Amino acid sequence: MILKEILEQCQNRRAKAQMLAEYNYKIALDNEEFFQAEKAYRNLNFEYGKNPNEQTLSKVNDINKTRKQILEKLGLRISPQYQCTTCQDTGYKNGKLCLCIKQEVSKRISDICAIPKNIRCDFEQCDLSVFSNELQRKIMESTYEKMKDYCKKFPDTPINSIIFSGSTGTGKTYLISAMASELSMSGFDVFFTTAFGLNNIFLKSHTAKIEEKSQYIEPLLKCDLLIIDDLGTEPMYRNVSNEYLYTIINERKINKQHTLISTNLNQDEILTRYGERIFSRLNNKADSLFLSLEGSDIRLNKKK
Ligand SMILES: [Zn+2]
Repeated sequence: MILKEILEQCQNRRAKAQMLAEYNYKIALDNEEFFQAEKAYRNLNFEYGKNPNEQTLSKVNDINKTRKQILEKLGLRISPQYQCTTCQDTGYKNGKLCLCIKQEVSKRISDICAIPKNIRCDFEQCDLSVFSNELQRKIMESTYEKMKDYCKKFPDTPINSIIFSGSTGTGKTYLISAMASELSMSGFDVFFTTAFGLNNIFLKSHTAKIEEKSQYIEPLLKCDLLIIDDLGTEPMYRNVSNEYLYTIINERKINKQHTLISTNLNQDEILTRYGERIFSRLNNKADSLFLSLEGSDIRLNKKK
């Protein structure tokens, strides 16, 4: 969803830039001086095409200079002004996603989870030397390798839900952001939200008219990957938070769709806060993983 939206916006920008350029060209042609210069420019170009020579080329250049001066005087730009000159707002360069798109994906994701904007969230850019604690760094190195592999094989992995548990500063939000970027850019429909944002969606759906309820919930059910950042920090609304969360998680489990969760809570706290039904769906050994990123807990990957 993130990538699709960004590409659509980019291509809309391209279409607008082209339309504006065409519009400006029409206005410019209404100006007699430009009209004459343009006519002469076209004729000379045609002449040069038939018989290329220095003399005509020099005339072409001269008249081109004149038409540019007239346009400047009129304050009109007749060539499309693209935001990204590398891909001309197509989003692609040599068949690959342009850097402008990658940066925008990363920016969107950091906006959601409040990661500083100057940090690009992806596996390429991550610098694990920021972890001064050696144990913490080793845990992250090993987790990063596993998650890169998960992303490479996505969605064909036996595991379809992962909980990253750890206190603030363990790098769990950065890790899920990198995964979100990676999979978004591979073209998967990634829905990235904070637990707080998710709760708001639940509340909107709960209070909406019956025929409008599903429009809020559907993206959460349909996306290839649902990522919930910071589970446990959201307020709990009676008859809403847990009920909706269970429905989403249960439906996704039944359909073997992937869900990633980051949380400050440990397993016991998840059980207490969300109850047995949700806990057991997220702790099913066959298709779930609970990763503690806590430096003090060396039992990485231990599944309970
Ligand atoms: Zn670009």
